[in-house]
Parts: sequence; structure tokens; C-alpha cells
Amino acid sequence: MNFTNSEKIQQRANEAILGGVNSPSRSYKAVGGGAPVVMARGEGAYFYDVDGNKYIDYLAAYGPIITGHAHPHITEAIKRAAENGVLYGTPTEHEVVFAEMLKEAIPSLEKVRFVNSGTEAVMTTIRVARAFTKRDKIIKFAGCYHGHSDLVLVAAGSGPSQLGTPDSAGVPKSVAQEVITVPFNDIEQFKEAFHHFGDQIAGVLVEPIVGNFGIVEPKEGFLQAVNDIAHEHGALVIYDEVITAFRFMYGGAQDLLGVKPDLTAFGKVIGGGLPIGAYGGRQDIMEHVAPLGPTYQAGTMAGNPLSMQAGIALLEVIKQDGVYEELDRLGKILEDGMLALIKKYNIRATINRLMGAMTIYFTDEKVVNYEQAENTDGEAFAKFFKLMLNQGINLAPSKYEAWFITTEHTEQDIQETLKAVENAFMSMTV
Ligand code: PLP
Repeated sequence: MNFTNSEKIQQRANEAILGGVNSPSRSYKAVGGGAPVVMARGEGAYFYDVDGNKYIDYLAAYGPIITGHAHPHITEAIKRAAENGVLYGTPTEHEVVFAEMLKEAIPSLEKVRFVNSGTEAVMTTIRVARAFTKRDKIIKFAGCYHGHSDLVLVAAGSGPSQLGTPDSAGVPKSVAQEVITVPFNDIEQFKEAFHHFGDQIAGVLVEPIVGNFGIVEPKEGFLQAVNDIAHEHGALVIYDEVITAFRFMYGGAQDLLGVKPDLTAFGKVIGGGLPIGAYGGRQDIMEHVAPLGPTYQAGTMAGNPLSMQAGIALLEVIKQDGVYEELDRLGKILEDGMLALIKKYNIRATINRLMGAMTIYFTDEKVVNYEQAENTDGEAFAKFFKLMLNQGINLAPSKYEAWFITTEHTEQDIQETLKAVENAFMSMTV
């Protein structure tokens, strides 16, 4: 494949944009470097780059593109919205319609507020939990990503009785000291954290199905135990459904798994590809937010007409019968095919899949926590990534990310992908 134009544009990007990218995960640093491919156009399950190469896309913009690129119903809604003015700064009926749709889909949402990103949504749920409980500390799980606000850029201490340390330059030590990080799927360490800090903990931040060190499901009973222990100690449970809401089931991961949080943060998925975030939950907790309560949260772009109408259009599409069944069916064909190829070529790899989302880990063991994901073979992934890219399969450039199937992928796309996987494995074994 020829990447001349991508390379030229990326050289310009390196001069004009810090690091050449507007979000670090877009660089190819984690897969051995090189100029990231510059995409020109997306259509359905496909991307076309600036050199005219075509790709089957499994990045799906890190999750939100559930209905494929430029879905006609969503595109039409965005065009219509733009024609009527893109930003009002006043209430609009679309905000109400979309909030009603979210509430109807996700029963734990008694009240909702729109913001502009997952980062904002999570940051605000933490503030609200702190205001409600009048406590400061939060617990989160190792390897889960919750955006880039100070409180969630905190690394684990050396155990559940230790407070965190900054995971980014610029995060104050004092902020990191408000965060305890424990391994996902390890209820004993979670209990121990509460044993040490129980009466100081405002909330527990959980990705109910992890999407940020691959796709990792909670063990049977884990989330219910998290809820029970947190509530016993007067702490709130906050689900970060920025990736999971509407990805696996219309009612979110909480509906799929049958466990109810006190607050939920939403992000990219609900905007049909436009910038968005939302948070919501129990009415008595949400009433602490301004203008009703003393907890401040605001936003000029919050609830803007374009994002609202794109979000409404997205929900209209994925609410249709059979959407999730088809994502699961295609996901299973991809998983089964890859497992057969892993066996055939004796590749040291395992797969985690839930419906239309999947991760390949270059390791022998089943991955259930971040430490295991960290220990998978990054060099093997980097090689695999480049081999796939060169055959027109666009994956996220990191061993920690998921593959996302969209409603626009076909069985033929999956079969073509499996051919590419076979070629990649053959190259990796010689
Ligand atoms: N929470 C989760 C689970 C995410 O995956 C992300 C982004 O990848 C965020 C929060 C932050 O969202 P945003 O990038 O919209 O700020």
C-alpha cells in the first residue's frame, strides 16, 4: 500500500500540531512509530485515506460509530439541525426529547444533564458524589480510563491501603491522595480499600464492562458486591458508561448486567459521532446540582442542537429490532474464525469478546485485569497491527484497545478480515 500523501500531511501536522495529533492515542507510538494514516472519508464500515486506500474500519472512532460512518439517518439529522442554527444558548425541545429517550432507555436515570465530553461527564459525577456524601475520596479500578481530569489521572499506590500518585505531570500530589486504585475483578482488595478508608469514600468509579484495557467483563457477582460494599459504607456507585452505553444493549451495561448505579456518566457513544457527554442518576443526588443545588456545572455548548439531534437520530437507528443480535452474530463469526486461526498457526493469543466488541491479546491466559493486559506481548501486537493495516484493516493502534463492529459491517467484511488475519499470522510465524 502507498502512504505517500499520509506521510506528507503528517509531516505538516508535526510542524503545526503538537505531537502531530490531537489525542495521543492517534499516534503510532504504541505500535512502533511511523506516520499515522490520514483518513479522508468514512462511509459505512469503510474508511478511505488521502492516498485512496480503502480500509474496513474497526476503530469506529474508539467506540461511538456504532452505526458506521456517515449513516444517512444521522447525517440527515445533522444537516437539518445545522440549517436551523448550530448554537442557541437557550433551551430547545430537542434537549428534552433526547433526555426523555435516555431516561426511557436507562431506568437508573431519574434526572439527566448534558455536557460535552466523557471527561466532563465523569468529572462532574465525581463532584456531585462528593457534594452529596460530603466526603472527598474516590475508588477507581486499575487500567480503566475515565478521561483526562486530574482526579482520574492517578496511578495506584502499592496496595489497596495506599493512596494514589499522579499519573500525569501536572496532577497535584494532593489530588492523587484523594484516589484509591484497586484491581478490577478483585473484590478482596476492594473490600480492603473500604476497610481502610470507608468513611472517607464519596464514590466508586466503575467501567461496568471494561473497554480500556481491551474488553473485560466483570466476574459473576463482582458488580453487585461493589454496589453492596459501597452502599454499606455510605459511598455512591458511579458507572462510567462512556463506551458501554448503547454498545451492548439499548439499556446500557447496567441493563445487560442487572446492576443499578447511583450515577452514570455517558460520552461519545450517545452523540452519533458529535461531541457530547451526559450524566444522570438518582433524583435526590442530582438535585445537588445548580440551579437547584450548590454543586456547579455549566457549559456553553451543553445540549447544543447538533449533538442533540445527532444523538436522537442514533438512538432511533439502534432501537430497531435485531441490531444487537446482528452485532453479536458478526462478532461471533469474527471471534470463532480468529480462534481457529490462532490454533492453526499456533499463535500465543487469546480473545475477549462481548457481542460486537472484541480484543485480541498476545498472551496465553484469559485476561480479567489490567496487570494481565499490561503483560501481553506489545511487540507482537505492533507487528500484527501493521500487517493488518497494510491489508486494509484499520485497528486502534494500541494493544489495549477494542475492535468495534458496526451495524454497517457485513459478513463479507468479516470474512475479508479473517483472510487478512490469516495472512498476518502466517507472516508472524515465519
Ligand atoms: N470514560 C471512558 C470509559 C472512556 O473510554 C473515555 C474516552 O475514551 C472517557 C471516559 C473520556 O471521554 P472523552 O474522550 O469524550 O473525554
